[in-house]
Amino acid sequence: LEPAYQFMLRVRVPGGVTTAEQWLVMDELAHKYANGTIRLTTRQAYQLHGILKRNLKNTISSINDTLMDSIAACGDVNRNVMCNTNPYQSDVHAEVVAWAQNISDHLTPRTGAYHEIWLDKEKVVDSREEAEMEPIYGTTYLPRKFKIGIAVPPSNDVDVFSQDLGFIAVKEADKLLGFNVTVGGGMGMTHGNTDTYPQLGRIIGFCAPEAAVDVAEKIVTIQRDYGNRSNRKNARFKYTIDKRGIDWLKQELNERLGWELEAAKDYVFKHNGDSYGWIKGKSNWHFTLFIQNGRVKDTDDYQLMTGLREIAKVHTGDFRLTPNQNLTIANVTDEKKQDIDHLIRQYKLTDGGQYSGLRRNSMACVALPTCALAMAESERYLPSLLEKIENLLDEAGLREEEIVIRMSGCPNGCSRPALAEIAFIGKAPGKYNMYLGGSFTGDRLSKLYRENIGEHEILETLQPIINAYAKERTEKEHFGDYVIRAGYVEAVYSGLNFHKE
Ligand code: SF4
Repeated sequence: LEPAYQFMLRVRVPGGVTTAEQWLVMDELAHKYANGTIRLTTRQAYQLHGILKRNLKNTISSINDTLMDSIAACGDVNRNVMCNTNPYQSDVHAEVVAWAQNISDHLTPRTGAYHEIWLDKEKVVDSREEAEMEPIYGTTYLPRKFKIGIAVPPSNDVDVFSQDLGFIAVKEADKLLGFNVTVGGGMGMTHGNTDTYPQLGRIIGFCAPEAAVDVAEKIVTIQRDYGNRSNRKNARFKYTIDKRGIDWLKQELNERLGWELEAAKDYVFKHNGDSYGWIKGKSNWHFTLFIQNGRVKDTDDYQLMTGLREIAKVHTGDFRLTPNQNLTIANVTDEKKQDIDHLIRQYKLTDGGQYSGLRRNSMACVALPTCALAMAESERYLPSLLEKIENLLDEAGLREEEIVIRMSGCPNGCSRPALAEIAFIGKAPGKYNMYLGGSFTGDRLSKLYRENIGEHEILETLQPIINAYAKERTEKEHFGDYVIRAGYVEAVYSGLNFHKE
């Protein structure tokens, strides 16, 4: 008799765009084979937790029937390509999400092994055939996972500077001119190992839209050829670049492309969070729903999962998984808007309006009990910690102040804490390192402020800072900017300075 092994299954959703039918299938599978909940991830993917080993094949096969898959959702390949989630606000957005899909398709491993193993296709090929089949990855794939995201200013919702490779859409008069290209971002590190650090992507130039797939391919091949294959802790692209230099990278890229990137163009980011509630696009409507930490489930007093199921049954548009673990009910026609709005009210689905600005900008990774790497709680703990921090904000008159706060159960940083204005990274059960000083737009790293502290000390540490912020902030000054101006932490714009005393 085998133990009842259970698994997490991650389903890739390039750009976070998913149909109402696919939503319904995920809902059904969550109840049939998983723990009755759906987790929306920080990379715009679906996760199902608690799938028993004997049910894995059926689950994957049902997902495949809805034209989704879990290929390259894990592993040392290019992962789910992220993209700003409201492509129908303008033609530029629509074009950009199409490029995200193209990049994703181009970098998807060609191997048939997934289909052979999980979908009962023919026998696995031998490695010689595999080499021919994988023109980009070869037989040994990449040294580590690889992440790509596309931002559409003024929103940096994808946290483009956290990506191994990022594209920042540059537009003029609602026309997509092309993309600024960023390289070498990444969040992960290891506690106690200063050779590992989070890093910001750096802008290396500009390319036309049609060149984006080629740029992505060449960048991936550079990492394939030069990435560190002897030490996984130093194998991400950020270390490859930091070791050899950005000029080396540019030269190598230009040689592989056979042409040169142009000089980067101007852009402005205003935030890295989501805008909630109804937004009118060019022709349709979109409603962004606040979903605490991306967990879709029913509780006695909040029927979120049922409400979304009822909406999916009548919705003629699509759903968008946002990079901040929320959900946009997208492309609602004028005719359907009333029905959808009625269901939103019936099930009391929320745009987060009743919550503090802090909670609306909060994010936590899964951590315990389903992530094997977790050192401390995250998703299950952050909501109650927020309540206590909200009390401090109330006392200081800052309830509506938008502050980006993130928690991760380990230094892998799946909730991108190194970019938050206030961040917690788990060290041990109930203990966290506290970081301050990320920016509201996601272009600065946070810095360690207190090490290995529990809830009491967290609140004791934050209270005077919050009070001082309320009194001393300048007009429109964000919390992350204030803590730097006031001298609590130094500004960090390079991962090489992240651990500096
Ligand atoms: Fe990611 Fe670590 Fe959180 Fe697990 S505990 S989800 S690996 S950050």
